[in-house]
Amino acid sequence: MIAPDLETAILRLRALIDDAGAIVPFTGAGISTECGIPDFRSPGGLWTKNQPIPFDAFMTSAEMRDEAWRRRFVMEASFATAKPGRGHLALASLYRAGKVPALVTQNIDNLHQISGIAPADVVELHGNTTYALCMECAQRYELPWVRQKFEAAGHAPDCGCGGYIKTATVSFGQAMPAEAMQRAEQLTRDCDLFLAIGSSLVVWPAAGFPLMAKRNGAALVIINHEPTEFDELADLVVHDDIGDVLNPFITR
Ligand code: NAD
Repeated sequence: MIAPDLETAILRLRALIDDAGAIVPFTGAGISTECGIPDFRSPGGLWTKNQPIPFDAFMTSAEMRDEAWRRRFVMEASFATAKPGRGHLALASLYRAGKVPALVTQNIDNLHQISGIAPADVVELHGNTTYALCMECAQRYELPWVRQKFEAAGHAPDCGCGGYIKTATVSFGQAMPAEAMQRAEQLTRDCDLFLAIGSSLVVWPAAGFPLMAKRNGAALVIINHEPTEFDELADLVVHDDIGDVLNPFITR
C-alpha cells in the first residue's frame, strides 16, 4: 500500500517497527545521495557519465585497470569526505536499540560502519571501495598507497605476487561473496520486518532478498522516491525522501 503522505508513512512505519522483533534493513545507493555520493541510475547518477567496467575487462586489459583507477580517484573526494546521512543514523539507532541484528547493503561506501554499526554486522553484498585487494593473494592495500604508485608510474600498480590490485568491490561479472550472500539469506529468512531502502531493486541477485523476505512471512517496506517493480508486494511503500522518512527514528 502506498502511503498517501509523509506523515502517514512515518506513523505506519513506526507501528511496523514497534511490532517487529527482528528488522533487516537492506540499503542501496539512495541512502547515500544526501551524503554527496551519487547513485547509479538517477538523473546525474554515475551511469549517465560512465558505463561500468566489467570484471573480465579489468582482468584482461591494463588500459581498463588504469581507467578503473582513474575513475576511482575522481570519486575519492566524495567518498573520503562523506558523512553518514539521516537514513544511516536512523538505522544505527535501531541497531543500538536491539531491533536490528545486522544490516544488508549493496553500498560500497563504508557509511553504515562509520554511523556506528559494527563492521561484523554490516553485510556487504557488493564489497567496499574504501580499500583494495590483490585479485590473486587477497593482500589488502590502502588507497593512498595505490594512488601514489599510480601517479609515480602513470599506471595501476600490481601486487608483489604479480596479481592485479582492485578496489574491494564486486564488479559486474565477478562472483558474489559467498559468505555475505549466505548471511544475507539467513537474516532475510529470520526477520519479521524487511526494509528495502534506496535501491532500484533491479540488480540481481541482490534484488531477490525483498521477495525472499515476503515469501517467508516478513512485512516488507520499500522506501524510494521512485516506484520499483516490487511495490505491489509491499505492505508499505513510501515514495518520499529517505532522510525525511527516517529522520524521526534517529535517537542519541
Ligand atoms: P541505484 O542507483 O540503482 O538506485 C538508487 C535508488 O535510490 C533509485 O531508485 C533512486 O530513485 C533512489 N533514491 C536516490 N536518492 C534517494 C533519496 N534521497 N530518497 C529516496 N530515494 C532515493 O542503486 P542500487 O539499487 O544500490 O544499485 C546498484 C549498485 O550501485 C549497487 O551495486 C551499489 O554497489 C552501487 N552503488 C553504490 C553507491 C554507494 O555505495 N553509495 C553509489 C553508487 C552505486
